[in-house]
This record gives sequence, C-alpha cells and structure tokens, in this order.
Amino acid sequence: MATSPLRLVCATANPHKVEEIAAVLGDLVELVPRPDHVPDVVEDAGTLEGNARLKARAICAATGLPAVADDTGLFVDALDGEPGAETAYFAGPEATYAENREKLLRVLDGVADRGAEFVTVALVVWPDGEEVLVRGVCRGRIADAERDGRGWGYDPLFVPDGDHPGGDHPDGDHPGGDHPGGRTFSQMTDVEKNAVSHRGRAFAALAEALRRR
Ligand code: IMP
Repeated sequence: MATSPLRLVCATANPHKVEEIAAVLGDLVELVPRPDHVPDVVEDAGTLEGNARLKARAICAATGLPAVADDTGLFVDALDGEPGAETAYFAGPEATYAENREKLLRVLDGVADRGAEFVTVALVVWPDGEEVLVRGVCRGRIADAERDGRGWGYDPLFVPDGDHPGGDHPDGDHPGGDHPGGRTFSQMTDVEKNAVSHRGRAFAALAEALRRR
C-alpha cells in the first residue's frame, strides 16, 4: 500500500465534480488541479470509456503526471438509453443544464416508464500507459417535474432508487422522510448523494482499486 498520497492531475475543471471526487478519494490521493494551459479535449469517442480515456491521456501527456478523468452519461430506459454519452449536449452543443432538463421533461411528457440510470466511468492513466478503469451505476427514475434544492446538471430531476418505498434501500426503510416518492439528488446533502451516486460508486471503486495496486 502506498505510504504517501498518490498525486493525480484531475482532468475535470468542474468544481462540483472536483469536490465530489475529493470527498470520496479522501487521503489516498492528492488531487492536483488541471493546469490552465491545457485545452479542453473534444469528447467525441462516442462511449464513456473512450471519452474518459481521451481526457486522461491528454492531461497525462501535457503534465507528465498520472491523471484521473471521468465521464458520465444518463441512460433513459424509454429513450433506448439516450442521451448516454451525449448527456451534456442533449438539447444542443451549447445547451445549459436547464435546457437539457427542459428537453428531458418534454420528451418524457406522458411517458409512464421513468426508469433511468446514471453511469460513470473513472479512469487513471500513468505516463507509462498503465490504466485503472472502473464504473459506477446508480439506477433511479426521472421525476415528473423539477424539484428545488441544491445540485447541478440533472440533479433536480433524478430520483435514485432506495430513497422511497419500493426502492432498493437495504434497510427496507427509506430516508426520504417527507418525500414518500423519494428525493431527487438536488434534495440530498453531498454526503447522501455521494453514498449512492454513480460518481460516488465509481470513485469508491477507484479508491479500492488504487489501494490494491
Ligand atoms: P460529465 O461527463 O461528468 O461531464 O457528465 C456529463 C453530463 O451528465 C453533465 O453535463 C451533466 O449534465 C450530467 N451529470 C453528470 N453527473 C451528474 C450528476 O451527478 N448529477 C446531475 N447531472 C449529472
């Protein structure tokens, strides 16, 4: 086991994600911010794995340090898995989070099957080409309308399983309290979200894989 934290350059500059990743990787890893001079990578691989690899390799090549990247997609059952790897651009190449959510509500208007899953692929690449790749999945459903609260992206619409009666919470109970239909990610604290989220699960798996390395 490593005695000092592994220094990893974080491919994402999104502060929400950096916070979530740092919270899960804890003391095991020292996350180094992405240098400003490294341009954004065009994420056109068409798969989560491919996009994560493009990002991690670009940062690794630019810095000479191991790099960590992740890529997430929302796979909606009634849309045959769309938007998937195109989740960030669902409503168009420059779409805002709000526009993406509006489009999702629009295309699911009147659709009874609200099942969906978030999938995150997290990948570390070393300068010698070594890779560790893991995946985290969070099943849930798309709410009928946006819920207030904190959060970003599709958080105000996504209700993870397990937070409502009939969900898969291990206690058979539900921590959703006043929300018998379950809370969206935006209605949870960071700690609650990380415990069940796609990214939380992927980075917990990554921490485990790095400990075993
Ligand atoms: P990325 O690959 O992590 O940038 O994720 C692609 C898109 O998925 C983002 O632009 C968000 O719209 C959405 N997304 C990813 N993770 C989350 C999350 O935890 N909550 C809500 N939306 C997310």
